[in-house]
Amino acid sequence: MSNHYEVLGVSQGATGEEIKKAYRKLARRLHPDVNPGDDAAEEFKLVTRAYEVLSDPQKRRVYDTTGNENGTDTGYPGAGYSGSGFAFQDIFETFFGGGGQQSGAPSRVRRGQDALINVRIDLKDAVFGANKKIEVDTAEVCPTCDGSCCQPGTSPRTCDICGGSGQVQRAVRSILGQVMTSAPCGTCQGYGTVIPSPCHECSGEGRIRARRTLTIKVPAGVGTGTRIQLSGQGEAGIAGGPQGDLYVEIRVNTDSTFLRDGDDLHVTLSVPMTAAALGTSVHLDTYDGDQELTIKPGTQSGEILTLRGLGVTHLRNQGRGDLRVHLNVETPRNVDHQQEELLRKLAELRNEEYTDGQLASSGSGVFARLRERLGNR
Ligand SMILES: [Zn+2]
Ligand SMILES: [Zn+2]
Repeated sequence: MSNHYEVLGVSQGATGEEIKKAYRKLARRLHPDVNPGDDAAEEFKLVTRAYEVLSDPQKRRVYDTTGNENGTDTGYPGAGYSGSGFAFQDIFETFFGGGGQQSGAPSRVRRGQDALINVRIDLKDAVFGANKKIEVDTAEVCPTCDGSCCQPGTSPRTCDICGGSGQVQRAVRSILGQVMTSAPCGTCQGYGTVIPSPCHECSGEGRIRARRTLTIKVPAGVGTGTRIQLSGQGEAGIAGGPQGDLYVEIRVNTDSTFLRDGDDLHVTLSVPMTAAALGTSVHLDTYDGDQELTIKPGTQSGEILTLRGLGVTHLRNQGRGDLRVHLNVETPRNVDHQQEELLRKLAELRNEEYTDGQLASSGSGVFARLRERLGNR
């Protein structure tokens, strides 16, 4: 079981004020409303228990001398965060406004706004996933007042005018006689408290504008339009309110070599006519490094070689798509005299007869081939 001082991250000689500050900072991060999750909830309980003990001078003295809370028991009786009601008061202040006022007046504390930013990544990052550094313009808890909105050393005070209720009663004459109506108090804007000395750094808002650099984990398999939600990474709230969420929308850059279709990748590979006729092997640079491809003798333009599992990683389950290599047989261009002679000789040997530069159609010729392709219709 860890030491209460370590739990709060303060020294053994910390002042009450330091302990309170450390606790509020942790509570703001770990509170179940802000950070839903079993780990955070467990940590929140520990932190709150530590605060309950260390913020009470008598309990702290017992703890300091005996190393546990009541001199005998090392257990956690009722370690819930509403345990003694003492720390609960502070939670209330941290989340629902200062001064300990519980009058039902609305709180000035507001949750921060959610934010959305676009992030461009390369196709390779979508294939394998990546860590990306991003910059966000956001709002952070004011470091001077720690979100309290008050100049250090001062605190909100109950409004004199409404007595903390946030409402003022007024007598209004009507046809039914004199009736009482209530309206929000103009002095405290209905909050029930006033801040006599607003913090200079944040002008009493409890937060400041800031540019933050974050490293986000982009999972493999994302595509353009995929949104990643980062809980509690949005703007800090007003008056120490919880942070909003940050949404990162992915845009995948078009790649000059590979085209993505679902989780498959497509690439076109040009093969010289002679190589396609005779067969060969070629090297292809893929995201998984150099791959050797076998081009069978008699390969036709448009044939596809499939490299299984070299496509994009599936976002939701195991495995990857395929890499499909579209072969493009290149007909020679700008042939010189000697090459032309050879090609004519080849045509002659293959009984591909030309008359006056026109290809004579024969039974096994072009039309038959076309019929085959159209499925013998
Ligand atoms: Zn401030
Ligand atoms: Zn008031």
